[in-house]
Amino acid sequence: MLSDRSERGAMAGSGTSPAQRANGAAPGCRFCGAVLDATFVDLGMSPLCQTHIDAERLNHMEPFYPLHVRVCGRCFLVQLPEYVAPADIFSEYAYFSSYADSWVEHARRYCESMRRRFALSRESFVVEIASNDGYLLQHFVAAGIPVLGVEPAANIASVARERGIRTEVCFHGRAAAARIAAQYGKADLVAGNNVLAHVPDINDFVAGMKLLLKPGGVVTMEFPHLQRLMEQNQFDTIYHEHFSYLSFVVVERIFAAHGLTLFDVEELPTHGGSLRIYARHAEDGSKPVSTRADALRERERALGFEQLETYGRFDEQVKATKRNILDFLIGLKREGARIAGYGAPGKGNTLLNYCGIGTDFIDYTVDRNPYKQGKYTPGTHIPILAPERIRETRPDYVLILPWNLTAEITEQLDFVRAWGGRFIVPIPEPRLLA
Ligand SMILES: [Zn+2]
Repeated sequence: MLSDRSERGAMAGSGTSPAQRANGAAPGCRFCGAVLDATFVDLGMSPLCQTHIDAERLNHMEPFYPLHVRVCGRCFLVQLPEYVAPADIFSEYAYFSSYADSWVEHARRYCESMRRRFALSRESFVVEIASNDGYLLQHFVAAGIPVLGVEPAANIASVARERGIRTEVCFHGRAAAARIAAQYGKADLVAGNNVLAHVPDINDFVAGMKLLLKPGGVVTMEFPHLQRLMEQNQFDTIYHEHFSYLSFVVVERIFAAHGLTLFDVEELPTHGGSLRIYARHAEDGSKPVSTRADALRERERALGFEQLETYGRFDEQVKATKRNILDFLIGLKREGARIAGYGAPGKGNTLLNYCGIGTDFIDYTVDRNPYKQGKYTPGTHIPILAPERIRETRPDYVLILPWNLTAEITEQLDFVRAWGGRFIVPIPEPRLLA
């Protein structure tokens, strides 16, 4: 979701000059620098997922960028080369975490769990990287624990500040971390949810966490788990803002390269299946590596996450999923069904553009975020309206684009069942909900 990243151009270890990339040469791995010549999945050309279109720009040209994901044959980091400058994506960002109720609740439980496990108090210091509108830090603030948010989107940071959450507007990396450590001190807990996957310069980002962390401190990071992405056909979680697709073994290797040891991991249901990793300084002997971490490492190895062939099968799997989704929707339209969408999330953009689903299938979509209402989905130009429109037009089907929030959405929209309306979930395979 919202990310944090360091300056464009500081691609440590990329091994490829801009001129080489301009000539179409294969880019370098953002972690180890090896040439990236193996394809994970090629989703064609796609517009930026958060660039919702104003009505007056509907007749203008729109930039599309390649959505061709590679896998490094040396370190197995699955990654999207940096086709778009991060500053073009994140300076004004329309994603406000607080618009998803279940996500705010997830954050509340996280804060309670961290306070108990690591005995955080009024003497502690918590830093969240990519702190968004303060949806997470507000729970630490309520408990009297000093916090600092680091958030690159100024419009979102100002919302956090209005809530009384101290926030620095910058991209996290070595330079920002050194400055923050000098000004505020080092952190007992560095948190980052759905940011690690969104940084183009992952070396600078992880090195920055090392600088920001107290000697006995803990880093936690949550990110979608590559194993679930592959098992569940979650190709729609691939978009330009999402640079890395992470397994435990690869993250462990990247952190180790920067003097950080993963000592525990939890598997979470969020975003279709995420990992929450716990890291400490490699020198900190007070936190032994858990059996959960050992077991997950062994499982990923057994599943082939350190063999290139394992990744080569995904491209065809995604093409088959596209055919299934289109078959399903074409069948409904042949019967004369009226279909509305729910949500205008990043993942919806990839799904709609890759499958070629526009207003020929979906009359409109709705979103609770007023930033998006009145605009149009990028590339496919489906109108984004307020949720009330569903009650007014009584569609036969509602296609749920943020399928990770299906339970929350079907509860909010339970009223569609009154006129026989039904819900469609597109991933892992298109299906109607009972
Ligand atoms: Zn690599």
